[in-house]
Parts: sequence; C-alpha cells; structure tokens
Amino acid sequence: MGKRDYYDVLGVNKSASPEELKSAYRKLAVKYHPDKNPDDKAAEDKFKEASEAYGVLSDKSKKDNYDNFGHAAFENGGGGQGGFGGFSGADFSDIFEDFFGDFGGSRRSSRKSSNNRGSDLRYDLTISLEEAYSGKKQNIQFSTSEKCNTCKGNGSRPGFNPERCSYCGGNGRVRSNQGFFTVQQTCPQCTGSGEEITNPCTDCNGQGNKQASKKISVTIPKGVDDGTRIRLAGKGEAGTRGGASGDLYLFINIKSHDLFKRSDVNLFFEFPISIADAALGTTIEIPTIDGKKAKIKIPDGTQDGKQFRLKGKGMPFMRRGDHGDLYVQVKTEVPVYLNKEQKDLLERFRKIENERSNPTIKKFFQKARSFWND
Ligand SMILES: [Zn+2]
Ligand SMILES: [Zn+2]
Repeated sequence: MGKRDYYDVLGVNKSASPEELKSAYRKLAVKYHPDKNPDDKAAEDKFKEASEAYGVLSDKSKKDNYDNFGHAAFENGGGGQGGFGGFSGADFSDIFEDFFGDFGGSRRSSRKSSNNRGSDLRYDLTISLEEAYSGKKQNIQFSTSEKCNTCKGNGSRPGFNPERCSYCGGNGRVRSNQGFFTVQQTCPQCTGSGEEITNPCTDCNGQGNKQASKKISVTIPKGVDDGTRIRLAGKGEAGTRGGASGDLYLFINIKSHDLFKRSDVNLFFEFPISIADAALGTTIEIPTIDGKKAKIKIPDGTQDGKQFRLKGKGMPFMRRGDHGDLYVQVKTEVPVYLNKEQKDLLERFRKIENERSNPTIKKFFQKARSFWND
C-alpha cells in the first residue's frame, strides 16, 4: 500500500509555516488521540499517520529530505559503508506534553522511561549477493553507550542513592498554564527521572552509562535485498537511569555482482554465444547463484536477446521457503578477426544463403520494395 503524502495527511500545502504545521497536527492529534478513541483502530492509524507526517515536516532537515526525495528519503539506507551513526526516530513526547497535559496521568511511568530511552543506532553492513542468497551470521563491532557496572546504571557512587529531585519534588514533570492548555513539561533539572544524583559515580560521572565497544552476532536472513533494514530491538545505546535501551538498525547494502543482476527475487544473467551456436543450436552450462551449474538447451535458430527462464533458481523470498526465477538472456556475438579459412567459409555461406533462412530480412525488403514502387 502506498503511503499518503505527508502534506495531504496534515491537510496543508507545501509552503505551510511551522506554526501552520503545528496547528494542523494539533487538530488531528486532538481528534484522533487514542485516549479519546479507545479501541478504535482507524483513529489510531490516523493518529499515527499524522504523527509520522508531523515528525518529518517539523524537522528542518527531514523536511528538506522529504521535499526532495519523498518517502524514498526514509526507506533506503544511503550513507557510507560499514560505519554507524545516530539514527533517531522522531520524539513526540514534548508535543504530547504540550497538548495532553492533563490527559492520562497514568502514563507517567511509560513517559518516564521513554525520556530516558537510549538512542537508536544505525550500522551499515555490506554483503555479497551470494551471502544474501544463503543468509549468514555475522559479528559486528561498534562503539555504544552501555550501563556502568560500578553504579549499576543509577549514577550514584556505590553506597549512596539518588535523592528526590528538588526542582519537581520527584514528579519528573513541572506544570504551568499557557492559555488554553495546561502544559506539563519534563523537569529540566532531572530530565524526568524525578531523581537527583548527589554523589555521582566517579566511573561514569553520574551518567549511569559509559562508552564501550560492543560486539554482537547478528543473523542476516536469506533473501535480504539492497536497502533492507533489520531492527535489533534493545541493541542500541543503553537508556539512562532505568530507561529502556534503544534499538540497533542494520542497513543492508548488497555489492553488485559480476554475473548476476537482481530485480526483487528474480536474477538475470547474460550468456554470450557465437552465431554458429545460435544458428545450429547447442547446450550451454551456466553458473547458478547457489554455486552449482545448470544446463540449458539452446534450440537452432535462437535469436539474439532470447530469454530462457529457470524456475526457482532466483533469490529466496524473505521468511518463505520458495525462490524467484533466473532469466538467462542469450547475446549472440558477431565474430571478429576472422582468419582466411573462416572468411572463405562465410563467403561461401553468403553465396548460398537464401530468403528462407533469413525471414526478417526477406520481410524487410518486401516492405522497402513496395515503398519504392509507390
Ligand atoms: Zn557509574
Ligand atoms: Zn526534577
């Protein structure tokens, strides 16, 4: 199913100002918010769609990308190979706090952890087409933030405990009235945790996390394609003060292959043959992506560009047992650098060539003659 245009979703035009975008999103969000529409899947979808659109259009650089590339801007990896960088989904918590100040106080706990959630990470991984065919296990190593062992992540020196935040009294949030809305915002002092570190752990400076090099083994499923994104839940940066870990996103990049071209689950292969083989027929042996060989009978009179299909010899469908097909296209090569004997034979062949053996040429001259005679 195609995604709707983000501007259409919010019902604004491309030149809408940030205030107009915010106001358009606010209307939709108030209307479709799950708290107001319990158990209404359609409303929930609308809410998510609007939130996604606003998340992109309210962010200057994401908006620029979207304006230039549309939805494709966020589907494929792009970027360098083998590295990783911060890859952070939109964070709507501020907006929700703006709009739904007094809505659902019961959400405090989940909000608390989402504020402290670790960042998502992106890792670009380049593999060969053969590896994409068979799937593989791969160790990857990257630098990330992990829970500090000394303080077990709470940020306080061993023997001490965090104290209640003096700014918000341990609520994690502070509220104020702003016109129509009661605004509750994350406490700027404790960033929502409700706690204050009075004796910071010396190992992590009270952060609860430390930068570390992490090595994990990941399974690349059979059939991944260029641009496939694999989410490894909880493998991103550690959260702070009890917050959940972020996710690790693996962006798959597949090297181009010398012999096989891929389109979705099908593979394409060009096989050059001589005009003698094309005219007289032959049997060819071609490599297949599984490392084996397959035989194809080329019948006599095979024309240049003719395609043969080998069913089930293509790439596997992801998470399914079956495969796409392999298409072998015959490319006839006109011989060059002929020696005397070859030339003589071809001269003889030219003399005894007849119209029956070249029906396309015959048809062409029939048309040309009637054109000249008209
Ligand atoms: Zn520590
Ligand atoms: Zn506080």
